[in-house]
Amino acid sequence: MIDKNNFIKSNSRAGGVIISGPCSAETEEQVLQTAQRLAATGNVDLFRAGIWKPRTRPGMFEGIGAAALPWLLQAKKVTGLPTTVEVATAKQVEEALKFEVDVLWIGARTTVNPFSVQEVADALKGVNIPVLIKNPINPDIDLWQGALERIEQAGIKDIGLIHRGFSSYGNKQYRNAPMWHLAIEMKRRNSDRLFICDPSHIGGRRDGLLELSQKSVDLGYDGLMIESHITPDIAWSDAAQQITPETLNEVLGKIIWRKENATISEHLTLQKLRNQIDQLDDELLQILGKRMQIADAIGAYKKENNITIFQASRWNDILTKVYAKNSSLGLSDEFIKKYFEAVHLESINHQNNVMNS
Ligand code: PEP
Ligand code: MN
Repeated sequence: MIDKNNFIKSNSRAGGVIISGPCSAETEEQVLQTAQRLAATGNVDLFRAGIWKPRTRPGMFEGIGAAALPWLLQAKKVTGLPTTVEVATAKQVEEALKFEVDVLWIGARTTVNPFSVQEVADALKGVNIPVLIKNPINPDIDLWQGALERIEQAGIKDIGLIHRGFSSYGNKQYRNAPMWHLAIEMKRRNSDRLFICDPSHIGGRRDGLLELSQKSVDLGYDGLMIESHITPDIAWSDAAQQITPETLNEVLGKIIWRKENATISEHLTLQKLRNQIDQLDDELLQILGKRMQIADAIGAYKKENNITIFQASRWNDILTKVYAKNSSLGLSDEFIKKYFEAVHLESINHQNNVMNS
């Protein structure tokens, strides 16, 4: 079903690649039961479980470690589901490979550290295994790209990306702010890579999972990583965001899957609307170019008459006027503000160039 990267074949009935399993492997029983109940849904492609858990503070459950690897191997044998674990050190890579883990993933707290990513990359030289890379906890997509390049340079061909949101101080709505624009830019730069959303770690709570999942599907993501547990409320880590395999199945059933690459013949109406958008974008650019020519002329005038570039009262007047006009246009105030700030800044830069030339 997903063919841009066929390293994780989507055999499930869902419209994308589905990765699920507990935040942490806790007991053999819990691992086996979760895997069996996930397999029974027919909607899961890859079974995940954290066994080395990088935790924010000491004293929290830090994972079972290598002792859980035989449980995962057993789960694979029983269910036929391939497995994935998070790795952060060379030793963890070595142990995971020994126990036939099928896919490795690099966690958000590891992607931030080039030394750690390089250590994992070095351990992967000469190994043929798919690797999924989560975004770093801080909103820095170059760091994410850098991690991808390090793994790529180790010779790994099958690399996917997981968007799990970015840590931000004082954020109440999300555990990790999605900052969709950053993920979209990363997706644009790497359009041939599998791109997965992890709504569990973005939301941090189970009630927002469907909405976040749908949003990622609407943006053309290729699949989802969602944490599941047989008894979510008493999970040893991330209890608030985990759901049972059966609830996962319900959520997946509610998602409306959409196709990204609609062809022209199939969707003539869409193509016509897109042509209109392209035309308007073109006009907007021309108009912005003209606006900046006027800014240049203003810059020249201010230079001659020794007037400052920025005048707070003028800027406030502009904003007041556009907010008033916008009421009939249907644009959000937030957009208007961002747009005018960007235009204003560009205008100031133009005037600066003229003044100092
Ligand atoms: C996890 O997947 O359980 C995990 C630790 O995720 P992240 O690296 O996104 O915090
Ligand atoms: Mn987790």
